[in-house]
Amino acid sequence: MAAHILLVEDEIKLARFVELELTAEGYRVTIAHDGITGLTLARESTPDLAILDWMLPGLTGVELCRRLRATGSKVPVILLTARDEVSDRVTGLDAGADDYVLKPFSIEELLARIRAHLRRTQEESGDLLQFEDLSLNRRTREVFRGERAIDLTAKEFDLLEYLLNHPRQVYTRDQILEKVWGYDFMGDSNIIEVYIRYLRIKLEESNEKRLIHTVRGVGYALRE
Ligand code: CA
Repeated sequence: MAAHILLVEDEIKLARFVELELTAEGYRVTIAHDGITGLTLARESTPDLAILDWMLPGLTGVELCRRLRATGSKVPVILLTARDEVSDRVTGLDAGADDYVLKPFSIEELLARIRAHLRRTQEESGDLLQFEDLSLNRRTREVFRGERAIDLTAKEFDLLEYLLNHPRQVYTRDQILEKVWGYDFMGDSNIIEVYIRYLRIKLEESNEKRLIHTVRGVGYALRE
């Protein structure tokens, strides 16, 4: 379920470099080297995010963005601009671009912007659950504390997702058993304690503060 990024950049070497970096980060990448092809690909392949160079043969990145917005596309757009085009940034914003990255740029900066915009669209679509520095993506099944990725088993993930639905709400053991393990679960209800312990170990591996709290005699809750 890797995010799909469209990159429209006419400098072949730069396009290749960015493509390699994005692929290394786990993104699926589609490339175009001119504006018209870029527009066609943006419409046909419905990327999760588009990176458009401002100056392109055929159609500028700004015009490409404007045409995309005219068709109702809400794809996040990052414009790549040379320093002398900065005074023109209002034009880009008017065209519906979400962000700018100035050339020459560091790949780390571009990657950070990409992550921020993808995170925002995921939040809007309801795929992302967050509490404090903990975030869980329902679509990609990724879990993070801050920037630290946390590897969970399927059941650990389900349990954390359930608790994250309503932070601060206290869930009883019966509720958790019913929702996470299902009505038919006939095993030992101590299984919840066991899984909570696994989760805490993984969530607090770098000495992060405890977020899953025991409410004595009742159950569990996510709290500061
Ligand atoms: Ca260019």
